[in-house]
Amino acid sequence: MQLTRKIRIYPTEEQAAVLWDLSDINRRLYNRALNERRDAYATGTKGVTYIKQQNDLPELKKEWPELKKVNAKVLQMTLKTLDANDRSFFELIKVDPDTKPPGFKGRKYFTTMKHNQSGFKIDTDSIKLSHKLPGGVDLIFAIPEHEFGVVKQVEVFQDGKEKWYLAVVEEVVPPTPVDNGQYQAWDLGVIKQTAVNSQGKFIEVQNIRPDRYWNKKIDTVQSKRDHCKKIKGKQPSRRWKRYNAVKRKMEKKKSNQLKDFQHKVSKKLVENTKAGTIIIGDLPVKKMPRSKTATKPMNRSTQGTGYLARFAGFLTYKAILAGKQVIEIGEEYTSKTCCCCGKIHPEMTVKDRVMQCDCGSVFDRDRNAAVNIMLRCLSQNALWTGYQEFTGNLRHTGLKIASIPGHSQEAPCASGG
Ligand SMILES: [Zn+2]
Repeated sequence: MQLTRKIRIYPTEEQAAVLWDLSDINRRLYNRALNERRDAYATGTKGVTYIKQQNDLPELKKEWPELKKVNAKVLQMTLKTLDANDRSFFELIKVDPDTKPPGFKGRKYFTTMKHNQSGFKIDTDSIKLSHKLPGGVDLIFAIPEHEFGVVKQVEVFQDGKEKWYLAVVEEVVPPTPVDNGQYQAWDLGVIKQTAVNSQGKFIEVQNIRPDRYWNKKIDTVQSKRDHCKKIKGKQPSRRWKRYNAVKRKMEKKKSNQLKDFQHKVSKKLVENTKAGTIIIGDLPVKKMPRSKTATKPMNRSTQGTGYLARFAGFLTYKAILAGKQVIEIGEEYTSKTCCCCGKIHPEMTVKDRVMQCDCGSVFDRDRNAAVNIMLRCLSQNALWTGYQEFTGNLRHTGLKIASIPGHSQEAPCASGG
């Protein structure tokens, strides 16, 4: 599996100047290739593909010798990025007619450079990027000590003004997972994460909600921004730009706070369980394009599921790296089915926080869902020993749960009480 490590670097003034020069060559190559694609599109010429543009590079270098100063692979990756942007545009436009095609890169913005397979040298505490610009400035950057596996790619980019980073993509071989008969099932939610393990013990983690703090502030700035006139086709005013920059900064802070939290929580959860198998519900994340016509609450709620999917992703890769197996289970009706008797309660809404069933069971909604996810996984995979152990342990906690799926009539919970 591949892991990407984001590392902040601090180039000297000379190094920064070299990076900008290299970036500028890539930027112009990108713009030239985009222009070629646009011309081809306008005249109906076929065949201006990534392969063609890559094959044209050696010829292009003859008339544009500056290109030779950049690592050949980096140039190829710049063309590949354009190709990917173009493709995703043609995919998105199918669902959202407001999608903008890839645009030309302005000289103000640093063009990300991807050193793929070659063009970099890695040590435990430094990374060197190759280039052939005159002046003899080496692009060597100190990094926190780390033993890298097989490194596939090193990307250099800016994130925020004058903040430089490397993204190091590393191939990692995770340990072979072992089924130790211990399971942990997760119900992932926007409000909290709830887990249950084979012993019938529950864990709950309340999510932090940076959106509660930030959304109000963001809305205020946005409304201030929207009061500034912006005429179509004309440059926005300075005030408009300033408010817009503030708004973006706040959105970024909000998103980073949640991301950090998710990283910490998923790490802790994986470290603190003995279970060899982690079970999570598969989230019904639909691909929804972000469009200008979408209402704000809708955009925010789809963001919510996006964050949840990201959390599931963190949990999954951290578990796999720790030598655990991760199973995804269809989670339809897991929150509307009583885990004791199996009765489905379609009348339940998202607001009902408690599962209250005719069989007498009264149970926290998310705990109920976590138990159902566990039961479903164990029965679908015919892990009957695990199933018996789990239901047995749950009964010890006082839960009147059936021991065999589909045999609720014989289960103790049928006696009422
Ligand atoms: Zn019931």
